[in-house]
Amino acid sequence: MTDLSESTAAMVPRRGPDALFDVIIVGSGPAGLTAALYTARADLRPLLFEGRAAGGQLMLTTEVENFPGFPEGRMGPELMNDMRKQAERFGTEIVTADVDAVDLTSGSPFSVTVGGEVYRSRTVIVSTGATARWLGLPNEQRLIGRGVSSCATCDGFFFRNRELVVVGGGDSAMEEATFLSKFATKVTVVHRRGELRATKIMQERAFKNDRIEFVWNAEVVDVVGQESVEGVVLADTVTGKRSELRTDGVFLAIGHDPTTALFRGQLDLDDAGYILVREPTTATSVDGVFAAGDVVDHVYRQAVTAAGMGCKAAMDTERWLGIDAHNW
Ligand code: NAP
Repeated sequence: MTDLSESTAAMVPRRGPDALFDVIIVGSGPAGLTAALYTARADLRPLLFEGRAAGGQLMLTTEVENFPGFPEGRMGPELMNDMRKQAERFGTEIVTADVDAVDLTSGSPFSVTVGGEVYRSRTVIVSTGATARWLGLPNEQRLIGRGVSSCATCDGFFFRNRELVVVGGGDSAMEEATFLSKFATKVTVVHRRGELRATKIMQERAFKNDRIEFVWNAEVVDVVGQESVEGVVLADTVTGKRSELRTDGVFLAIGHDPTTALFRGQLDLDDAGYILVREPTTATSVDGVFAAGDVVDHVYRQAVTAAGMGCKAAMDTERWLGIDAHNW
């Protein structure tokens, strides 16, 4: 039995072979930074590895208008910077480095290796997020945030009375096209095959929508525009013939990849590689390891839901440290 009042954090050294952290957080999007804020305020002195690509997907977003509390909206990177400062204010130690390896297999305390140094911690919160798949075209990458987006919920509002392209043929593409049709005058779904992968109900909803059109057997091979998106170049996947389609925006809906390579073989993952948690908690298959945010959630994927899960992970961690871990 461990009493929180006996928390080792205040007494043990923060570096060297004897250092033992109460909690290490891996990942610095809204989930990781909220977990840091809560564990810091619970006096657990979290150590957070933010990775070299710190801040998560909001760093690739321009204006965020759906994070509650900001009536005028906030730029994605500014919002993340504020979350970071808020976590630091209460004592989170943030290290800008990628985690190279973790050992979760022998139970708590766990070890986390960064740049050759091994850190030991009684608990670990995984919040490494997921990355949207991109086509990988140079002009697509250049115009992210200026007409190219991977999140209709985030950016659709900016395209009122415009024409848009959605790339993909799965549920996400149908959902994004349907959502975007509320703002845009026309949404063209470009799909590389002649049939959709999406579930029947999602397909039917899109087919019935007057504002949604389909271009079949086509791939986007270039994005056109200097300051913002003006069009896409399509290649027919059957004939190879190229054509240009005028559009004000391109929404990629070709899937996401959870960042779980570090944890493969150590934590239970689903078929798509997302970490499985014991809902409604954030407990993973390893006792003392918790997970939050897009690395778990392939349904909602919002900054606010990730932050909410980060809060849950922090409270689960605090509780786990405060009671007999084996009875958690
Ligand atoms: P997905 O089902 O993997 O579909 C990805 C789509 O993108 C496929 O149509 C695929 O084409 C296409 N694609 C992949 N790579 C491409 C590339 N390089 N170029 C062009 N097209 C490419 O992904 P998702 O739609 O994000 O869905 C993921 C999971 O979440 C699914 O299980 C889905 O059911 C679920 N989901 C559910 C809901 C809901 O129920 N409301 C909403 C969203 C997602 P091919 O078909 O040719 O492979």
